[in-house]
Amino acid sequence: MKFIAFEYDGTQDIGILDSSTDKIAPLGNILAKHIDNNTHDLVALIKYFSEITGILDNQKGILDFSKVKLKAPISNPPKNIMCVGKNYFEHAQEFTQSGFDATSKRGDNIPDHPIIFTKPASAILASEEKIKSHKNLTKQLDYEAELAVIIGKQGTGIKKENAFDHVFGYTIINDITGRDLQLKHRQWFIGKSLDTSCPMGPWITSADEVDAENLNIKCWVNGELRQEANTRDLIFDIPTLIETISSGITLQPGDIISTGTPAGVGIGFDPPRFLSSGDTIRIEIEGLGHLINKVA
Ligand code: MG
Repeated sequence: MKFIAFEYDGTQDIGILDSSTDKIAPLGNILAKHIDNNTHDLVALIKYFSEITGILDNQKGILDFSKVKLKAPISNPPKNIMCVGKNYFEHAQEFTQSGFDATSKRGDNIPDHPIIFTKPASAILASEEKIKSHKNLTKQLDYEAELAVIIGKQGTGIKKENAFDHVFGYTIINDITGRDLQLKHRQWFIGKSLDTSCPMGPWITSADEVDAENLNIKCWVNGELRQEANTRDLIFDIPTLIETISSGITLQPGDIISTGTPAGVGIGFDPPRFLSSGDTIRIEIEGLGHLINKVA
């Protein structure tokens, strides 16, 4: 199933998208009726999913997808969005060689353990919304196409072999980064957390619909293909990431882990190719739709 958050006729709602008919079955009222929770967003749906799953199967699409305004599927994750640095071999090399990595020496390309940093929820942006250029702060805005894992079931100390039991589904994230800020502040938080630096969507595809360990991922800037890879090439796979993070941090329904970007980001070129106002970034992951954002 494809779960979306949207605005229609001035009201925010969530729903199931039937991609064969492009119709949406709204779910907000169903959640309000069947679960005792004050908010009726996709985090609540994920949390109470096992209680309402039978009801969801019978919902009919009534709204035209083309008539709604997409919202980010999750705008209020239980904690910051957890992201993985240098998790594809070729990208790890291009990043270290670019000189923008304050955390590694040249030649020290491949991490021994997953590098985890976070982006705040305040940076989340929906597909088709505009990315602020932050021209007064950064001259080196960059894009990073990534597969993001949405946690479904709470867990701590999750073992690799059980990791996928805790996954609800997947979406796309563009890990927008101010490279000069990432370098200057050494710790990556500021460079990766500016407002609008976490485009996410277009929706969440449930885990049963895709093989997350074998998905083609592509990113175009102004129609030019810049990134092309497959998620099977992750250095640290999804079970390893879940085991590592959950070893001492309880994962909760609605938590998001963005798995890292492949080669082909702006700093991978010589000279680097940073984003400018008016540029459009389109990211496509097999089975997950596409995420499109223009730089304001
Ligand atoms: Mg990234």
